[in-house]
Amino acid sequence: MFSADIITLFPDLFPGPLGASVLGRGMADGLWTLKAHHLRDFATDRHRTVDDTPSGGGAGMVLKPDILGKAIDTIAPASDPRPRILMSPRGKPLTQRRAHELATGAGAVIVCGRFEGVDQRVIDARHLEEISIGDYVLAGGEVAAMVLLEAVVRLIPGVLGALDSRDEESFENGLLEYPHYTRPQNFEGREIPAILTSGDHARIARWRHEQSLALTKARRPDLLKS
Ligand code: SAH
Repeated sequence: MFSADIITLFPDLFPGPLGASVLGRGMADGLWTLKAHHLRDFATDRHRTVDDTPSGGGAGMVLKPDILGKAIDTIAPASDPRPRILMSPRGKPLTQRRAHELATGAGAVIVCGRFEGVDQRVIDARHLEEISIGDYVLAGGEVAAMVLLEAVVRLIPGVLGALDSRDEESFENGLLEYPHYTRPQNFEGREIPAILTSGDHARIARWRHEQSLALTKARRPDLLKS
C-alpha cells in the first residue's frame, strides 16, 4: 500500500483537500495512508527549537539539520525503501511521469520547508530529492506536498473510478487534452461541434487528436519538442 509520511510545522493542515472526494474515499478504503508528523516533536530543548539564523547573515531563519535529520531517521530508518522528498522551488519540476513512478512505489517521506528553507547538509546527508511544483515561491512546502500527493494518489489503481479516462488526459501522451462539451446542445448561441454528435467514433477520435495537437502547439510548444 502507498503510504505517505509528511514532516511539517503545520500537521493540522493535513489531510486537508487530500481527505475529500475520491482521494478521501481511497484513504477510507485503505488504498493509501497519510501521516503528518510535527517537526517540533523532534526538537530537544525546552523551547522546542527547530530553526536558527542563517550562517553568513541575511534575513529569515533556516530549519536545523540535526532536528530534521532525527525526524527523517525516526520516521523512515535507512531500511525504508521510500524516496525522501523535499518540497523546494530549487527542485526538479514535478511531472506526470514522476507522479506515475511514485504511484507504483511504496509511498514517500515528504519534508515541507518553511522560512528560508533547510540546512544544505541534511539535504545532502539524507539524499533528499528536491521537487518543485513551479517557478514561483510559496511560504511553505505544505501546499506543494498536497499538490504532489494529489497528482500521485489519483494514479493509484482503484482510487479513480474510470481508469481508461486517464490515458487521454493532459500530459499522459505528451499533449494537452482536447476540449470537452456536454448538453445543452446550444449554449448562448454556441453549438456543440457537430462531429461530436455524429456517432462516427473514428472521426471523433481523429478530431480530438487534431484539437490536442493544435492546443499543444499554440500553448505549450515545449511539450512537442520533448
Ligand atoms: N529561500 C527559498 C524559498 C523558501 S520558501 C528559495 O529562495 O529557494 C519556504 C519553503 O516553501 C521551501 O523550503 C519549500 O519547502 C516551500 N516551497 C516554496 N516554493 C515552492 C515551490 N515552488 N515548490 C515546492 N516547494 C516550495
